[in-house]
This record gives sequence, C-alpha cells and structure tokens, in this order.
Amino acid sequence: MKTIDINRRKFLNKTGAALVAAAAGSSLALSALQAHADAAAMTQTKQSQAATTPQKALQMLKDGNARFVQGKMLQRDLMQQVKATAAGQFPFAALVSCIDSRASNELIFDQGIGDIFSARIAGNFVNDDIIGSLEFACAAAGAKLIVVLGHTECGAVKGACDDVVLGNLTQTLANIKPAVAAVPGFESNRSSKNAKFVQAVSDTNVALTVKRIRQRSPILHKMAQKDEIGLRGAMYDVHTGKVSFM
Ligand SMILES: [Zn+2]
Repeated sequence: MKTIDINRRKFLNKTGAALVAAAAGSSLALSALQAHADAAAMTQTKQSQAATTPQKALQMLKDGNARFVQGKMLQRDLMQQVKATAAGQFPFAALVSCIDSRASNELIFDQGIGDIFSARIAGNFVNDDIIGSLEFACAAAGAKLIVVLGHTECGAVKGACDDVVLGNLTQTLANIKPAVAAVPGFESNRSSKNAKFVQAVSDTNVALTVKRIRQRSPILHKMAQKDEIGLRGAMYDVHTGKVSFM
C-alpha cells in the first residue's frame, strides 16, 4: 500500500513536470500545477497558525471532513511532517472526542502531524484535567478553535442510559448522566434500545460539554468572547463518515 502510494506520488510529480515542460507558460500548465499544489497537504507553522482565524479553522475542519467523505484526502508525507514539526507545533484546532475506534480525528478530518490537538475520552465529556489541556492548547499553544465532537452509536452514552456498572467505568459514565437526565420524554423507553433517545442524549451531552467549558474555564470563555477562539459542538455519523456542526 505504502509502495503504491509512493509510486503514485512519483508518477504525479513526473506527470506535473511533463505537463509543465510540454506546455510551458500555457494556462493548461498553470492549472495542472495548481491542481497538484492543492492536492498536497501543508504543515502548520507559526505563521500559518497566526494567520488562521476561528472561522477559518472551522472551515478547515469542514473541508477536511468533506475530503474524507469523498475519498479525496490530501497527499501527506508523514515522516516529512514529523521532521518539520519536531522543533515546535502550531496546531489550528483542539478537539474533545470519544475514544471510539471509528472516530479518529486525524482521519475523519483529513489532518496530518501537527495539525490538531486531540483529547479523547469515552463519552467526550470534560473534567478539570481535560479543560486544563484545552487551556494549554489555546492559551499556551495558539489553537484557534475548540470542537466538542460526539458520535452516533456511542457505547459510552448507551452505557450511561442503561446505568452500566463496571469497575472504574461506573465513574466515567457518571459524567454523562447529566445529559441523560436533561433529555425529557421518551417515557416508554429510556434505554440504549431506543436509538432516538440515545441520539438525543448524545446531542445533549455535546451541548452540555460546550457549556461546561465556558462555565469552568474563565480563560477559554474570555478568549471565545473576544473571538480569539471558536467553541463549537459537532456530531460524527459512524454510518456516513460525515461530521455535522451544531
Ligand atoms: Zn463513544
């Protein structure tokens, strides 16, 4: 797979060079060059991070997820990005999301090394340690956007709905219980067997987590008020690969 990718990249490079040589100065060559440049991912730098607004950071994630859904991910030389970021990182966003194996942030947003901070915990809630991590990401390391990302079919949310008791997980799920309690109705079935109820709890859990970040972090709340950072909730659909922003 890796060999194929490398060969494909070499082929594309050669194709681009051949096009330029064959039609030097023509608009065809220019558009071919442009298409090639667009397909390669850039590594975040101090300058690129400083030039990124919260709105632009949000658009970068939206564009990345659109590429993922369409199967048109950017070309990345990850080891080159390792080298380029070794001396410092300048990520444009910080995500709080679930540990779910189907919802890997770098994959579903088509991002590379040094692009995004990821705090992952079952049920994508926040506690003091995760809020501290977000303060590091934004106030110390310059990220412009926080996204709290829930996902459909979340096992942690289902466990909270069903009052699952299992070792340390019991305490973990307790952090999602306020979202369960905050969803009214569904009196006939408030268990994990009711898919609509589970999704309502997942949506509420994201909204409450966003609210909790504002309430518990004066630093991040102030940065958001001054539009130095964005703070958004989102939901990942494990059936389609699509992220919907709230
Ligand atoms: Zn989950």
